Amino acid sequence: MAEGPGATAVRGAFAVARPEWARPGGEAPRGAVGSQRAAAGAAQTEARMQVIVAKPRGFCAGVERAIRAVELALERHGTPVYVRKEIVHNLHVVQRLRERGAVFVDELDEIPEGAVVVLSAHGSPPEVYAEAARRGLQLIDATCPLVHKVHAEVRRYSQRGYRIILIGHAGHDEVIGTMGQAPDVTVLVETLADVARLELPAERPGVILTQTTLSQDDTAEIVAALRARFPHLELPPSDDICYATQNRQNAVKDMATRIDVLLVVGSQNSSNSRRLTEVARARGVPAYLIDGPEEIDPAWLAGARRVGVTSGASAPEDVVLGVLAYLRARGCDVVEEMAAPDEGVVFSLPRFAG
Ligand code: SF4
Repeated sequence: MAEGPGATAVRGAFAVARPEWARPGGEAPRGAVGSQRAAAGAAQTEARMQVIVAKPRGFCAGVERAIRAVELALERHGTPVYVRKEIVHNLHVVQRLRERGAVFVDELDEIPEGAVVVLSAHGSPPEVYAEAARRGLQLIDATCPLVHKVHAEVRRYSQRGYRIILIGHAGHDEVIGTMGQAPDVTVLVETLADVARLELPAERPGVILTQTTLSQDDTAEIVAALRARFPHLELPPSDDICYATQNRQNAVKDMATRIDVLLVVGSQNSSNSRRLTEVARARGVPAYLIDGPEEIDPAWLAGARRVGVTSGASAPEDVVLGVLAYLRARGCDVVEEMAAPDEGVVFSLPRFAG
């Protein structure tokens, strides 16, 4: 596991704690669910429903840092501030920053010379930095430090003559940025079928690196298949899957035996959020990725006594509270949050904002 400073993997702590807002008589925050009985109306006709909220969930340190970088850029430079790609993969985050004056673009040639531009948390290939310098752009690099770490690994191994086998999803912004560090010696593997098709010279050293937001289980399977075919392949000194991805998956694994269905708050293009649904489904729990309560199909909840709720690393907590409010309106009368220590990971802001 790639851990940030002070990062801890949270595992095996299913013990359920009830947060202040879920205690009888507790003050529920706007949109949150208390432990009170559900109100009258249609809800009373439904079976009692219990909600278990995963912890940890939601924003990771890299996302917090990236959003803050855009906010600070807007405060210091005024509008517009340009952002290359979605700063993080969440439509609420992007929309809220857009409303404050951020302009999201796909490529730097859409930006006037000399303008302020923030690079997204997923990382960018080297040519983006070169073009920004050529065009005199004021660059603020919000690439997550844990993505930078993988970039550095790619460069280090390529300089030592290694072939790099990157496990990841084709077309994902992070994969594009990581492969761009050494495109001539990096090959992408997405599936077991890719492993079966792969040809590697046995005489050349090779190393397996991964996207930071993969499923641990799927990755372990692909790594095993790679090493079965190519025993000479090395693993990096530490797992590239980041602490936030790992902790959120562990929380879903821990709750999976206790829930009938899982709602994952996150956008469709959020890799780590999608992986949370896969982790649940792999354990026989139906799981749905939603951007908010308006996307919930009531049929998903039919007959469910215990509903799990979690959120991906780029999903705002107020959207989770909106989902809990929806569930309360449909008959949920107990909300419990898993017990887990705070992750305690904070990344310093990009240099401009220091
Ligand atoms: Fe960084 Fe992990 Fe968050 Fe991605 S999910 S921004 S790698 S901490």
